[in-house]
Amino acid sequence: MAGIIDSRGRRVNYARISVTDRCNYRCVYCMPEDGVKPLSHTEIMRYEDILWFSEVLSGLGMKKIRFTGGEPLVRRGMPKFLIDFRKVFPEMSLSITTNASLVTQNISDLAKVRGLSMNISLDTLDPIKFREMTRGGDIGDVVSGIRTAIEIGISPIKINTVPIRGFNDSELPRIVNFAWDNGLIPRFIEFMPLCDDVWTRDRFMGAAEILSVLEEMGSWNSVQPVFSPDSRVPHGPARYYTNSASGQTAGIIEAVSNHFCSECNRLRVTSSGRMRSCLFSGNEIPLLHIIRERNLEAVRREIIACIDMKPHSWNDARDGKGRMSDIGG
Ligand code: SAM
Ligand code: SF4
Repeated sequence: MAGIIDSRGRRVNYARISVTDRCNYRCVYCMPEDGVKPLSHTEIMRYEDILWFSEVLSGLGMKKIRFTGGEPLVRRGMPKFLIDFRKVFPEMSLSITTNASLVTQNISDLAKVRGLSMNISLDTLDPIKFREMTRGGDIGDVVSGIRTAIEIGISPIKINTVPIRGFNDSELPRIVNFAWDNGLIPRFIEFMPLCDDVWTRDRFMGAAEILSVLEEMGSWNSVQPVFSPDSRVPHGPARYYTNSASGQTAGIIEAVSNHFCSECNRLRVTSSGRMRSCLFSGNEIPLLHIIRERNLEAVRREIIACIDMKPHSWNDARDGKGRMSDIGG
């Protein structure tokens, strides 16, 4: 239960670190069509910086680190970095969030990362819609990546879907069945208004509406699931439901309609070492310089200061939008 207690009594013990701002896809709700101007290598944390920084986080009681992006597997050497990370942190709960398209080509290294869990984004199984949503992606690569991840024993694997009315709403039961058929955990994340050029109220589906679409699979009851024997780490923001017909579970992350701010245990660090205590807050603390200097005292002080700035709720924080590919989703 270690971690840093913030000024409102929340225990912060989970860090999400973006390893790159780049991605091989251009999902319409996440990245502009032409991509973003990529940061140069000197502007992002090197792997040794991330390892050192993770040691500082671990020293402060962080129990879980998730690597994300952009797409973490587009960064050269990422699977080998995960192997090194695991050697240095044998006990840390370790996950990545990925679009899975590059999992198969990295199979041999990923298979060596003990205790890796994965969140895989999948908004549609329809090849044409997938190409449209990702602006050019091939669903075959993702399905192959999912099968590879299962084959090499990555567990748990959660399938994350953003329901968007008029795009994939009718497909939600199919995605749930795909996940269950493969022994995976389906979760639906409410579409967040991070970039207003794409988000509209019409496209947004709240948790109640998501559940109502899923009702064609039977009724759903709220539950507290247990995913793994590793109970050191809280299960995160999803609310889980069991289906009366199948007995299986699906999660909904009410990122918009019912914020989990009072239980939020996380902080975020961008690939360029900017730390945020809230996804929706523009308050960022630049750490790259002091990480590079290996200035332990300064980095510890800034982490604690950042956690202390953690907003009470996202309503207090909504001054800083930005794309998930930049902040690290
Ligand atoms: N490239 C990886 C992937 O797609 O899983 C990791 C980074 S991506 C930014 C992380 C997650 O953020 C994805 O599951 C994506 O669906 C989600 N995301 C991006 N923009 C979002 C938005 N506006 N609302 C809800 N989820 C969003
Ligand atoms: Fe890339 Fe993930 Fe953003 Fe899609 S959601 S553009 S895969 S970073």
